[in-house]
Amino acid sequence: MELFDVYSLLDINPVKAEGCYLWDDQGQKYLDLYGGHAVISVGHSHPHYVEKISKQLQQIGFYSNSVKIPQQKELADKLGKLSGLDHYQLFLCNSGAEANENAIKLASFATGRKKIISFSKAFHGRTSGAVALTDNPAITAPFNETLNAVHLSWNNLEQVEQQLKKEEIAAVMIEGIQGVGGIRVPAPGFLEGLGKLCKQYGTLLILDEVQSGYGRSGKFFAFQYTNVTPDIITTAKGMGNGFPIGGVMISPHLKPRIGMLGTTFGGNYLACAAGIAVLEIMEQERLIENAEKTGSYLLNKLASFKQIKEVRGQGLMIGMEFEEPIKPIRQKLLEEENVFTGFSGTNVIRLLPPLTLGIQQADEFLSKFAKVLNS
Ligand SMILES: *Cc1c(COP(=O)(O)O)cnc(C)c1O
Repeated sequence: MELFDVYSLLDINPVKAEGCYLWDDQGQKYLDLYGGHAVISVGHSHPHYVEKISKQLQQIGFYSNSVKIPQQKELADKLGKLSGLDHYQLFLCNSGAEANENAIKLASFATGRKKIISFSKAFHGRTSGAVALTDNPAITAPFNETLNAVHLSWNNLEQVEQQLKKEEIAAVMIEGIQGVGGIRVPAPGFLEGLGKLCKQYGTLLILDEVQSGYGRSGKFFAFQYTNVTPDIITTAKGMGNGFPIGGVMISPHLKPRIGMLGTTFGGNYLACAAGIAVLEIMEQERLIENAEKTGSYLLNKLASFKQIKEVRGQGLMIGMEFEEPIKPIRQKLLEEENVFTGFSGTNVIRLLPPLTLGIQQADEFLSKFAKVLNS
């Protein structure tokens, strides 16, 4: 059977990975500044992570949510402690889109309202409700247009207020830092302004921290750079270091009834083992602090590259916008310097490395990058 091409593929077959490096079947070694799309948080094949999942599988790998799974509570407690949001409730699922889908549904249940506001260039996942919140016609089908999403301009509070005045809105959904949209950090005051408006109009604020969360920004969640208190927070990518897991964190004032949310695979033993191992490693190796430190170092150094039009981001979530298309630069980085990078659109290179990236590896990247830009 032929495979459906999910993305246009790199002609590389990685067979081994460790920390911030990958090796292909030809024995070539690559520096990973992409982290499998912001997923690899604690580094590839971390021994504690491998051991935790392997041991769990030897005990019991799966049972559904019809039994007690104490590992779920352990994960929730650790997540509550590290994020400082222990008073929230955690619903476990399997991906970012699924987390957002549940968040939207919950907001609609809680408010009795039908519409959701999102922002230009947002990305919240590919399932119907989530994809309806993007304004990218390339990934939305006609059916998705029936799903009551309202797309507004980024950083424009006035427009949000007008919309909230005009009709009843269940929730505003926004990324802590826009990822797919090109690493766009909300302007100072925008998130706080949204928080205030939401309270005033009985609308819930949903923070999509699927990409920007789990330490990537240098705080546990990117919104924690501000004073806002979200009603719902969604998480996924870095949460399992590659094991599929997502979470919806629900503010204590929302009291979802049993049965409103459900899942077959969500919160299974293996996913919880992966999730617990990630948080243990993050805490032990102080990876959030490391993301802040290495991220600031990189942002600082990159700002002096004259070839880059704008450098944006926080922690190890970095976007570099160029005047010209970036495809040749990324190609050279990969083929001549063995460096993986990500992109947004045609003009932004995205760096989403493992949070273990050290100064030495940042320097390795910077010298390879300089070589490519100056060639
Ligand atoms: C990747 C992403 C999603 C979707 O996550 P999946 O696990 O691919 O479903 C949602 N929101 C943001 C901000 C993302 O970056």
